[in-house]
Amino acid sequence: MSIEITTNVKQDIERVFALQKKHQWTVRRTTAAERKAKLQRLMDVIQAHEDDIVEAVRQDVRKPHKEIKAAEVVGTIRSIQHTLDHLEDWMAPVPVGSSLYPTSENFVMYEPKGVCLILGPWNYPFSLAMIPLAAAVSAGNCAMVKLSDLTPETSRIAANIVREAFDEREVAVFEGEVEVATALLEQPFDHIFFTGSTNVGRIVMTAAAKHLSSVTLELGGKSPTIIDHDFDMAEAAKRIAIGKFMNAGQTCIAPDYVFIRKEDEDAFIGHLKGFADSYLKDGAAVDPEKFTQIVNERNFNRVKGLYDDALDKGAEVVFGGIFDPAERLIAPTVLRHVTPDMKIMQEEIFAPILPVMNYETLDDVITYVNERDKPLALYIFSQNQDVIDRVVNQTTSGNVSVNNVVIHYSDLQLPFGGVNTSGIGSYHGVYGFREFSHEKGVYVQPKK
Ligand code: NAD
Repeated sequence: MSIEITTNVKQDIERVFALQKKHQWTVRRTTAAERKAKLQRLMDVIQAHEDDIVEAVRQDVRKPHKEIKAAEVVGTIRSIQHTLDHLEDWMAPVPVGSSLYPTSENFVMYEPKGVCLILGPWNYPFSLAMIPLAAAVSAGNCAMVKLSDLTPETSRIAANIVREAFDEREVAVFEGEVEVATALLEQPFDHIFFTGSTNVGRIVMTAAAKHLSSVTLELGGKSPTIIDHDFDMAEAAKRIAIGKFMNAGQTCIAPDYVFIRKEDEDAFIGHLKGFADSYLKDGAAVDPEKFTQIVNERNFNRVKGLYDDALDKGAEVVFGGIFDPAERLIAPTVLRHVTPDMKIMQEEIFAPILPVMNYETLDDVITYVNERDKPLALYIFSQNQDVIDRVVNQTTSGNVSVNNVVIHYSDLQLPFGGVNTSGIGSYHGVYGFREFSHEKGVYVQPKK
């Protein structure tokens, strides 16, 4: 039976891929006004289905309504609107002069890549498929899209929205299990845009290598957070609590662990507890109306394994540590006396558990971070410009946020992405447009 399904899906993938390969030559000639009309249509359809999107995501991963609306709908609309506001400028060829002839009129143009594949994750399933899609469309591409196998309801609504907004010769969504993603990856796409784990990123890049498809890999990892002695601990705790506990820590750029001076630890944790308690019902259990579920049993057990390993090796639970397997809820938790040999300090946590480590000198922290995989995001809280500069200049990471966490994701003036194990390439705003474009240099020999 499953072989039968796979055969049908494969044929459908090949059929749509062939259609898009042919149609791309029409799509790539579109003007800014024509692309904007398509994006406006996508935005209108998304807005018309706002309630359906929220409901679908809620069925896939139980989380508070407010969080779904902000992350999935508002974030997507903002991103498309930003593109509508700037697309003419982004598409304009850039005159670059010449190192050979002063009179030549060389320029760089942004040419569509062609037919693109977009694979999305489950944690923000709608927006992390639609924002790359809008970037692909803005750059004049055709696209085939697959959301996570863990979010079937969101996949269904995304497929309906795309059908309403586009012809399948231009954009099509494929639903189904991982084998559908595997079948998609067999096609010789011009570009593959993947958001997900580092391990699956390797599978995607291996598949891309066969056809030499270019890739954008938006991956994960551990995002360190450093708190300097001079920063207001209440303010740091508030900002970190929001970034760490939203979506129950299942955010790629959630602060993974904290480095803090020993003398500041109690104050910081005390403030953090105040925020964490607001997610609890009667101070004992997690309130499911206010807090997000862990996506599935496998992840719940994985996180419990990290937690148990840390406790076995001497970590102390400062607060939290409540695991409800029936509801797949984990209370906001802080661990201290954490050491680098614990699994929780080696794997991306992706849950509302925050290990707190102490440091003596900033150099020690910088060395610790630089000895490990390059983070997707790095956070530094400090009033001291010298400290900020040292962290920004002496480490490498996809992005850095100074005095806040996660928020850089929403600033569309910045490229968003990782480095090596945390990702390859970036997007958002003009960077998304460029990621889905081939930067073509045009040499123009002077006529005389
Ligand atoms: P995942 O890698 O398990 O899945 C991502 C996508 O790949 C899904 O669509 C899934 O169906 C597909 N997939 C899974 N196995 C596959 C295989 N063998 N072959 C082909 N496709 C396969 O990731 P996830 O669990 O959905 O998301 C969590 C991870 O994603 C975390 O590591 C997180 O940090 C990362 N993430 C990164 C960003 C970012 O922007 N950098 C954003 C969100 C999530």
